[in-house]
Amino acid sequence: MSGKLAILGGEPVRKTPFPAYRTIGEEEKQAVMEVLDSGILSQFLGTWSPDFYGGPRVQRLEKEWSDYFGVKHAITVNSATSGLYAAVGAAGVGPGDEVIVSPYTMAASATAAVVNGAIPVFADIDPRTYCISAETIRERLSPHTKAIIVVDIFGYPADFDPIVRLARERGIVVIEDAAQAPGATRCGKWAGTLADIGVFSLNYHKTIHTGEGGVVVTDDDVLAERLQLIRNHAEVVVREKGTEDIVNLVGFNYRMTEIEAAIGLEQLKKLEGFVRARVELAGQLTKSLCELPALTTPDVERGVRHGYYVYTIRYDEKVHDVPRKVFAEALRAEGLPVSEGYVRPLYLEPMYQRRIAFGRDGFPFTYAGYRGRVSYERGICPTAERMHFSEVLCLTICHAGASSRDMRDATVIFEKVVDGAAELVHLDEAAMVQR
Ligand SMILES: *Cc1c(COP(=O)(O)O)cnc(C)c1O
Repeated sequence: MSGKLAILGGEPVRKTPFPAYRTIGEEEKQAVMEVLDSGILSQFLGTWSPDFYGGPRVQRLEKEWSDYFGVKHAITVNSATSGLYAAVGAAGVGPGDEVIVSPYTMAASATAAVVNGAIPVFADIDPRTYCISAETIRERLSPHTKAIIVVDIFGYPADFDPIVRLARERGIVVIEDAAQAPGATRCGKWAGTLADIGVFSLNYHKTIHTGEGGVVVTDDDVLAERLQLIRNHAEVVVREKGTEDIVNLVGFNYRMTEIEAAIGLEQLKKLEGFVRARVELAGQLTKSLCELPALTTPDVERGVRHGYYVYTIRYDEKVHDVPRKVFAEALRAEGLPVSEGYVRPLYLEPMYQRRIAFGRDGFPFTYAGYRGRVSYERGICPTAERMHFSEVLCLTICHAGASSRDMRDATVIFEKVVDGAAELVHLDEAAMVQR
């Protein structure tokens, strides 16, 4: 099927929007009403008391989360951002230390180091998985490395075994940012449980959500206790609790409310169904798109279940001699919501380029106790830059709200634009702006 491209004035393939992802139903509504009827919207106290660990629903969600994922401890928080900040703090990381992290991720993965006074050191990503790997991490190890934050980006669980091995030999803590990957697996193990600490997000556009929220998991009793303290005003609790190691136990309020916990309990029950829907629809898309020579569909290793938070395609602009920007614009004109790249490699942001975080003097980058050297120059992670600036196309249409028909439409759109690609060769970006 072909026809004149919509970007050149033809009829678009799709005239109705692709469905939005909505996960909240009657069950969540009912659960919230029960909390409201109870009158207790949160039951945390920032003192060493039975309520230090929160109310009944918060504790039930933690119990069910740890049972579901087969981990010893689950600690709810008010966002995955808070969870990452707490995780780096719990690991004992501070000024003078380095944290190796991916540049191709949501900002908080790296800011978690900065907030704790440490220096993010960016390792490049693997072009097939978009995750950092043992090889790229090894190049960035230094005597100052205290933690590694590995992100299961787009819902793809990174290859943790060699990373954890590398870290164990050196006493480095590995944190898994599984914000995008609940329900994904690698070799039969859940994403989020592949490192020393795992962090999940429950923000409103993740696979399951509570509006805002997060859960941190670990099998380590000491880390779990430190996470609970950081979540809830550690500085005034440690004396009575009798905690000896008070490093980084400065205390925040990262507490989840009973309302979010009640929603989370219902969402967790739905997780498996949501992930299956994503896997099924993504599989359908891959089956048809992998035939198109300009496109490289997700490369899923044997033994991996991709969570498909984002469906990514690598686009080779040499095949049709059409720049990615023009190709993407042509897809959008046909009614397909597609974005070019994901986030700019984080080190290109002003905080790193100008080395300004806390105060005017450049802390932590200029901290005299920091003996390492870090570069944030363009070019330090060439694969991340190439993926972002010229190859990656992102789709978020594979989810439980969508159908096979939607995947078929997406395929038809790609095929139509590929068939008409010759007409796009001379359509330069200036002409597109006028359109
Ligand atoms: C969404 C996200 C976060 C932050 O989650 P919040 O719950 O919004 O704070 C962290 N890391 C990654 C990779 C994310 O996608």
